[in-house]
Amino acid sequence: MTLAIGVDVGGTKVAAGGVEEDGRIIAKLKRSTPAASPARTEQAIADAVTELAASYRVAAIGLGAAGFVDSARATMLFAPNLAWRDEPLKHRVEERLGREVVVENDANASAWAEARFGAARGYRDAMLVALGTGIGAAILIGGELYRGRWGIAGEPGHIRVVPDGRLCGCGNRGCWEQYCSGNALVAEAREFARRTPGAAVRLLQLGDGTPEGISGPVITRAAIEGDPAALRCFQTIGSWLGQGLADLAAILDPACFVIGGGVSEAGDLLLDPARAAYERALTGRGHRPLAEIKVAELGEDAGIVGAADLARASSAAIFRQRRRRRRRPDHPALARSYAARVWRTR
Ligand SMILES: [Zn+2]
Repeated sequence: MTLAIGVDVGGTKVAAGGVEEDGRIIAKLKRSTPAASPARTEQAIADAVTELAASYRVAAIGLGAAGFVDSARATMLFAPNLAWRDEPLKHRVEERLGREVVVENDANASAWAEARFGAARGYRDAMLVALGTGIGAAILIGGELYRGRWGIAGEPGHIRVVPDGRLCGCGNRGCWEQYCSGNALVAEAREFARRTPGAAVRLLQLGDGTPEGISGPVITRAAIEGDPAALRCFQTIGSWLGQGLADLAAILDPACFVIGGGVSEAGDLLLDPARAAYERALTGRGHRPLAEIKVAELGEDAGIVGAADLARASSAAIFRQRRRRRRRPDHPALARSYAARVWRTR
């Protein structure tokens, strides 16, 4: 069986999977990421690929990495949660494996997977917004990933939404992801429990009894039970989400927003307030179609599936290109008649 291998490289784990042409994962494994050492992270990637490749024929290998990938899709310019700074990732992993790999930003890989096999299937203009530690995002225009001139388009988490607001990991203040992310949800709930512990009993119970013990899964569970404090937190984060999506619609006018990341597991508890805020904030509301706001379907596997599928597509394109080159005759007269023949058969 011929598989493509996709590797999702995050700040805490390397997850690799063997993916079929229809997007199904048939083998998967996880390693922790030695994030402080680029060389050891690259070795962990290579080890994971080698282990999977021992059991299957591998058509292509793709890496989806959490960070800024350059326009040549070879170098990691910067990664907030890994020690990569101008790291030639493609070259280093290829050296270890002795074969070609394709490198992509992790949010781009996830968006590609959702477009091919998940919630954005059938949409040519869509945007993925994933709420995790921060905001990961990707843009699809006309069915293709839009990467920007230098490869780093789609970072709306660092749009300033509050002048002189909360300090962000990027060094600026008031970035969107400080108000709308998994971390923001947890910060909101902890602050609420600190100020009004009497109203946060269920949140405290589900954690370890202290505000610091309240985690994302705790808030989601309490909200599903109908706990008013947890629902209020989702209301707040959802409102920030909807407002931000309206701003993005002002630039990109997509048909669909796919919301991913751990926070999206709350489903409509997050999306209902987001849709309401989106409709309130949208310029020209009432006189334009509303983009759909949907939950991602592939969950944490999206990065693996997207990286594998992008690598498969890229290796197929290279194969076609080489075949065309091989067929083209070298002699100028023959080449001219070949070109005329190709033209006629088009
Ligand atoms: Zn920022």
